[in-house]
Amino acid sequence: MKKVIVVGGGASGMMAAIIAAKYGKQVLLIEKNDRLGKKILITGKGRCNVTTSKGIEDIIQNIPGNGKFMYKALNTFSNFDLINMIEKKGVKLKIERGDRVFPESDKSIDIVKAFEGYLKDYKVKIMLNTKVTDILVENNKVIGVEINNKERLYSDVVILATGGASYPGTGSSGDGYKFAKKLGHTIIDLKPSLVPLITKEEWIKELMGLTLKNVAIKVKHRSKVIYEDFGEMLFTHFGISGPIVLSASRSIVDVLPSEVDFYIDLKPALTREELNKRVLRDFEKFINKDFKNSLDELLPKKLIPVVVKLSGIEPNKKVHSITKQERLNLVNLLKEFKLTVIGTRPIEEAIVTRGGVSVKEVNPQTMESKIVKDLYITGELLDVDAYTGGFNLQIAFSTGYCAGYFC
Ligand SMILES: Cc1cc2nc3c(=O)[nH]c(=O)nc-3n(C[C@H](O)[C@H](O)[C@H](O)COP(=O)(O)OP(=O)(O)OC[C@H]3O[C@@H](n4cnc5c(N)ncnc54)[C@H](O)[C@@H]3O)c2cc1C
Repeated sequence: MKKVIVVGGGASGMMAAIIAAKYGKQVLLIEKNDRLGKKILITGKGRCNVTTSKGIEDIIQNIPGNGKFMYKALNTFSNFDLINMIEKKGVKLKIERGDRVFPESDKSIDIVKAFEGYLKDYKVKIMLNTKVTDILVENNKVIGVEINNKERLYSDVVILATGGASYPGTGSSGDGYKFAKKLGHTIIDLKPSLVPLITKEEWIKELMGLTLKNVAIKVKHRSKVIYEDFGEMLFTHFGISGPIVLSASRSIVDVLPSEVDFYIDLKPALTREELNKRVLRDFEKFINKDFKNSLDELLPKKLIPVVVKLSGIEPNKKVHSITKQERLNLVNLLKEFKLTVIGTRPIEEAIVTRGGVSVKEVNPQTMESKIVKDLYITGELLDVDAYTGGFNLQIAFSTGYCAGYFC
């Protein structure tokens, strides 16, 4: 019986172990944490956006980092295969806005339990609290692993599923990159992706905790639009975060450290003319109030002092004295509320790591290394990364499936 060692009990490693065992191999899954799937538990704010209900072409579109590498893996094990597999274990799934798939219970633990159930069914041997410290290779063929800097365990195949370098507290502290590099693989520069952004403006702190739903963003670098989106974002003590900001961060990382202009359209449902009329109506209503007290029906409370400050209109000016030009400037400000992005939070705070093992050195059907025989590389460790929406977990599951099946 072929012996397989899977390194890393995250999304990709659990899948690889289950499938290898299902197809007749003797499997040992090694995880350094005291439990499996620690990162899965925190995904989707604890609800786990486990995959998407989009078609394969759409999924590839949402994988800006080497999406094409994923064609074969997604065709071998698609998001619908994943949905079936999870539901067969009794975990009902639901589809939410943006084709995002979550467990009906809204509990990520249910996803981990489903996988633990399969691992038990197929009698996968699991070693927890065990750190793989080296990959053993002889004559360009993998022969096993070293654990805890001392003991050697031998196998016919090793599947490396140690994840990226983000959120190291979950166990993914980048060990796989070191192993792969030592074995001769090229590691494409690691960068944070899906990461909160740091802005230059001092007043951003005043907006901390404010969430804006249904805003449009336009990101410009040297006057060129590099990203546009619509949805939800939030303000933090250092800058901005939230779904559309995280997705935008991927394009922004490419052009940093030079400054990036981040425009928010606070009223995307209204044209400038319509917004002008709307402001006029509010001004007529509050004609005898001070300007600073005239925006309550137009903007969230927290945003008002900042908009008043940036508008250039004297806060205590009576609304009836505001000039047409001042009003038009206010409309412009609301349509193009500008922030300056000067950096990102560190890779440790990124949802995913961009970069990793070069996909040119990995077989896209089997995930086998083209450099070391019988070594398979899966999941976030590969130089493949996607936007938010369940795509990153699907990458981990599909690549894990292929390695388990073809090894
Ligand atoms: C806050 C947050 C929210 C997210 N939300 C979503 C979401 O809703 N939807 C989505 O699609 N994606 C989401 N992601 C991304 C997604 O979780 C990852 O892309 C995915 O988990 C990668 O799977 P993986 O199996 O490659 O790595 P991981 O899940 O990170 O698993 C790697 C495992 O290997 C173990 N390991 C590492 N080194 C060793 C070693 N030397 N020896 C033994 N074990 C080792 C680790 O302890 C870990 O358990 C989120 C990420 C974060 C941080």
